[in-house]
Amino acid sequence: MHNVIVIGSGCAGNTAAIYAARASLEPLVIEGLEAGGQLTLTTDVENFPGFPEGVMGPDLVDRMKRQAIRFGAVYKQGEVSRADLSSRPFKLWIGEERLKTKTLIIASGASARWLGLESEQDLIGHGVSSCATCDGFFFRGLPVTVIGGGDSAMEEALFLTKFATNVSIIHRREGFRASKIMLDRAKRNEKIRWITSAVVADVEDPQAKTVTSLKLRSTVDGKEWDHKTSAMFLAIGHVPNTRIFRGQLDLDPQGYIVSHGGARTNIPGVFHAGDVQDRVYRQAITAAGSGCMAAIEAERLLEAED
Ligand code: NAP
Repeated sequence: MHNVIVIGSGCAGNTAAIYAARASLEPLVIEGLEAGGQLTLTTDVENFPGFPEGVMGPDLVDRMKRQAIRFGAVYKQGEVSRADLSSRPFKLWIGEERLKTKTLIIASGASARWLGLESEQDLIGHGVSSCATCDGFFFRGLPVTVIGGGDSAMEEALFLTKFATNVSIIHRREGFRASKIMLDRAKRNEKIRWITSAVVADVEDPQAKTVTSLKLRSTVDGKEWDHKTSAMFLAIGHVPNTRIFRGQLDLDPQGYIVSHGGARTNIPGVFHAGDVQDRVYRQAITAAGSGCMAAIEAERLLEAED
């Protein structure tokens, strides 16, 4: 029987683990398939307080994990495939293995969103990617394309200019969601080309198992044309990882956990932390802050029950 199980090992999960471990609750952290969370897919983090020179994303998340382990948190590889939150202790399954816990902190984050085209899915790992940091290197000396108009798209495009001959950003409307500083930085980079009011209708060439071009469609008049490129990097946001809680926890229509105040969900003893609930801020520092809140609430509940 565990006092606290934390699902997820990104900024939110690791911070929850640090606080729960320092409260002597010996938390068990289940790392998930994307261990370390979204920070492992990024490079320089320039806005996390305490790092005036910036810090590499994977380094930051690894420091957090080591800090949690130092105070007694235990990390376990694996993905929770099923959860029973109908009564306490809560039950979780990793494959056939069943775990029981008095409190649960859900910090399972959010995963990259895809366009949902068959050709796109066929070509993942063959020129279609959601992680420039992971795959950009393979496209040295080639033209590549980024889809999206938010900060992630700007960041990915800027990163890719280090390798590619040129980087096209394709965005579905004229206005950008990206912050001014990121947009300005991208606008200043001469390697970046801009295609606005267009969406990807298809990706060529699944038969050849490589990306050769994108079929683009104007969102203004529906006209289609071919855009030659060697890779397509998706940066169109994320979807929360809450599938296993459907029908048990209050979720909004997009699948984000609905907060019932602080870090509380609709089930007492189950807490949320990070992007799994946060559709607004979605920053490393806010995820860390909410992980802290969840651990403090779990600790207070257990203390009151004792
Ligand atoms: P985002 O802000 O939600 O932007 C997603 C972009 O993808 C939007 O421009 C959206 O278009 C577009 N999009 C969504 N679905 C699409 C579809 N099916 N087809 C075509 N385009 C689609 O997501 P994000 O850029 O990943 O950023 C998430 C959060 O992380 C934000 O809070 C951001 O500030 C933060 N972040 C910060 C940094 C940094 O500060 N260095 C870096 C990365 C991310 P519309 O605009 O038309 O909706």
